[in-house]
Amino acid sequence: MHRYHDPKFCAFCGEELRSAVEGPSFCLGCGRPAYQDPKLAAACIVSHEDSIVLVKRAIEPHIGKWSFPSGYVNRGEDVAEAAVREVVEETFVVARINWLVGLYSEVGRAVVLAVYDATQVGGTIGAGDETSDARMFNVGDLPGLAFEHDRQILKDWRVERDRRGLVSL
Ligand SMILES: [Zn+2]
Repeated sequence: MHRYHDPKFCAFCGEELRSAVEGPSFCLGCGRPAYQDPKLAAACIVSHEDSIVLVKRAIEPHIGKWSFPSGYVNRGEDVAEAAVREVVEETFVVARINWLVGLYSEVGRAVVLAVYDATQVGGTIGAGDETSDARMFNVGDLPGLAFEHDRQILKDWRVERDRRGLVSL
């Protein structure tokens, strides 16, 4: 997933934006406020038996660490379809969405992450765009994960699996 950068220039006149003490940034040229909406990303925990798909990050932040396949949702795109698209682009695995694990956001961060549980229904795993490696890992033996919230996501995922009466992983 690419890093998200806040815009630095005005969408109307191209002048530089200046952050305000409170509220939206404003343009130094025309004075218009620059409202910055949250940026939506989607990720999948794609499982196959007792393993899940992880991708090794080829870009900062946390280059070389592993995380769930994820990416930004395009405007007008179905969020679950975006999640499936990112899985194929990054790992060549074809996934089917089962349920929403949760929405993850943090104070001060632009990105909101929607995480889905999914099952592999086709494809052969391999490293696609923006990843240096993609592999299935046994859930009991996962490598170092890139993001602090990854552990919380896994915990929430396990709780929901138990609630649904699925095999504990
Ligand atoms: Zn302007």
